[in-house]
Amino acid sequence: MYSIYIHIPFCRSRCIYCDFYSTTLGRDTMIAYVRALEKEMCRRRHYIKCTRVHSLYIGGGTPSLLPLDVLEGILSSVGQYFELDADAEVTIEANPDDVTPEWLDGLSHTPVNRISMGAQTFNDRLLRFLSRRHDASQTVKAVEACKEAGITNISLDLIYGLPGQTMNDWQSDVEQAISLGITHLSAYALSYEEGTPLDKMLRRGDVEEADEELSRQMYNHLIAATRQAGFLHYEISNFALPGFHSRHNSSYWQGIPYLGLGAGAHSYDGFRSRRANLPDIKAYIAANSNVPNDERLLNDVPHEVEVLSDAEFYDEFVMTRLRTSNGIPLDELSDDDRSYCLKQAEPHLAKHLLEVHNGHLCLTQEGIFTSNDIISDLMK
Ligand code: SF4
Repeated sequence: MYSIYIHIPFCRSRCIYCDFYSTTLGRDTMIAYVRALEKEMCRRRHYIKCTRVHSLYIGGGTPSLLPLDVLEGILSSVGQYFELDADAEVTIEANPDDVTPEWLDGLSHTPVNRISMGAQTFNDRLLRFLSRRHDASQTVKAVEACKEAGITNISLDLIYGLPGQTMNDWQSDVEQAISLGITHLSAYALSYEEGTPLDKMLRRGDVEEADEELSRQMYNHLIAATRQAGFLHYEISNFALPGFHSRHNSSYWQGIPYLGLGAGAHSYDGFRSRRANLPDIKAYIAANSNVPNDERLLNDVPHEVEVLSDAEFYDEFVMTRLRTSNGIPLDELSDDDRSYCLKQAEPHLAKHLLEVHNGHLCLTQEGIFTSNDIISDLMK
């Protein structure tokens, strides 16, 4: 069983905090890109040595910008080259203002059964500040339209710790998200990624980072409110109603192999090899622009491969597993690694930032807030 990720690196406009690989190039480039995607599928279909695809995730960028016929073309290529499980989770990321009844009607002829929307906040002033192109009412309408169209597995993204965001603002964001009847919520603290316009504003002193204590209170409120609404807190930033955790994201955290297609997409073979396609749309398209769809003739797209050493493999194992509520399964570590891990964990166990449950080393709620420091202490 494995996952496929397809990267659609196009956005209508750029949000000031975002460092994901995407461009605002037009429809011709989009169509050439999708042709190149099909060629990559043809060439790399055997990257993972098993046939069952249990999740497909179309992310970006803004995949909901794709004209429906173009999206259908991608999904039909997936059907041609891969074997999707009958009950596969098939997610598309969407911007709320793209989610119209017409778009949803088009989706109903495809295997898409889950929509992940970047709501970010329900405060219009903060949405404008972030240069989002939607407003709060469009998110509400989009969720309602999805449900009317029969897509009930809906995830929203929220951001907390925004400049000027108060505790009341955040409580209202969480309440509104939950009240929409979604099945999954991802919530992230705002981060100032190097090179983004937001980071430049911070360096110029135009904005201030949120107070650490306020961010902690916001996070604690999120945990309490989602728990009360019946959500399971299954990963540091992710909450789901029972049975609705994201299979795709869980693949990353459980070491399940995944095939990443598209410029900037990452793949993992399930053993020691990671691969990153270079984030360069033009080079990606050019690699096979005049080559027929024949896997024997097609060139590989520009990429880099990293083979993990024992220490890097251990570090990744610790980092990905500790983010989840399941924690680190200690019996899956070698004797030496387990001793090392528990030795490093001692000070955090003593402070109740970590705990051992049924042979799994887990973060406590208090520990979650300093998880980056704890993870770095457990690494080699
Ligand atoms: S946050 Fe989403 S919509 Fe905004 S620039 Fe990044 S990928 Fe595009």
